[in-house]
Amino acid sequence: MRLTGSFLVFAVTLLARGFSSGACFADDRTGTLDLYFIDVEGGAANLIVTPEGESLLIDSGYPDNQGRDLNRILDVARRIAGLSRIDHALVSHWHLDHYGNHAALAAEIGIGTFWDRGIPDDLQEDPRFHERIAAYRGATQNKSRALRAGEALPLKTGKVPLSCRVLAASRETVTGEGSLNPFASEHEARPEDATDNAASLVLLFSLGEFRYLTCGDLTWNTEAKLVTPRNPAGKVDLFMVTHHGLPVSNNPALVLAVDPVTAIMCNGPKKGGAESTLKTLRRVESLEQWYQLHRNVDLELGLQAPVDQIANQGTTAECHGNWILARVAADGKSYTIQIGNDGLPARYQTRSDH
Ligand SMILES: [Zn+2]
Repeated sequence: MRLTGSFLVFAVTLLARGFSSGACFADDRTGTLDLYFIDVEGGAANLIVTPEGESLLIDSGYPDNQGRDLNRILDVARRIAGLSRIDHALVSHWHLDHYGNHAALAAEIGIGTFWDRGIPDDLQEDPRFHERIAAYRGATQNKSRALRAGEALPLKTGKVPLSCRVLAASRETVTGEGSLNPFASEHEARPEDATDNAASLVLLFSLGEFRYLTCGDLTWNTEAKLVTPRNPAGKVDLFMVTHHGLPVSNNPALVLAVDPVTAIMCNGPKKGGAESTLKTLRRVESLEQWYQLHRNVDLELGLQAPVDQIANQGTTAECHGNWILARVAADGKSYTIQIGNDGLPARYQTRSDH
């Protein structure tokens, strides 16, 4: 009986997989750290599933547009990552392309803990901030937790140590850590950015030797404040190009210092992916490959990533929202990056010279 029962479960599982629409990448997980970069047309939505199976969504795209970004996030979370709920949802900063769907996601799939940089009383650049933040406060039942520079997210860790550390929050940065930055003199100060971009949370993930850095929409002077005179991020494997690749961010003092081997840019067809940012990326000594969620439709193709490293080629109207997955091996020693279900995974060795 027991054997028959097991066989039945096995057969039903096979059938379910055979008839499901599209691959469920969760089926192939063996303690990997999965980082999904979901296309939200120039906003940000980065879904992370840890080796222990915990899920963390950083940012949630734009609201409205007939639920476009909400549905794309739900599709990746449920069908591709195989999740039935999201354990942690984080807001990098208070702009609508980053927290547009937190409340809707809480209603649709359920969210365990909400994390942010703290809710300001007002936001000068958004006259509708009070109305918008009310929905977020409602979804979190006023229990979102504010992160400060130097703190860590309490993610479960297995044999290979996993961590997510906050390097900057609300314009404060960790100080006195890391080696002196040899690219510090690349920084040329600009007028102060009074918007919430400059207050973005900066997170450094590690799994064993693997490092992933994401800086939200952090802007020029705060980028310099973070990495000069010392660089607390060290050198990283994977870098999410900051602020969709816009030129008000991606200060070479930071990008050259963190020296990524691979980079993923969450740009839209007409947002980010700027020529000056691409020029800075090309100067990165260790960079082997960068990926774009979109082709910048206004920029010469030759200046952009190779076509097969661009997830979506057309305009927003014709876009199907192809995602990018970076999957880190359980031991943290290598990782692959692929575009969508059918993309060929490219393999990279994790660096040991942090
Ligand atoms: Zn943004």
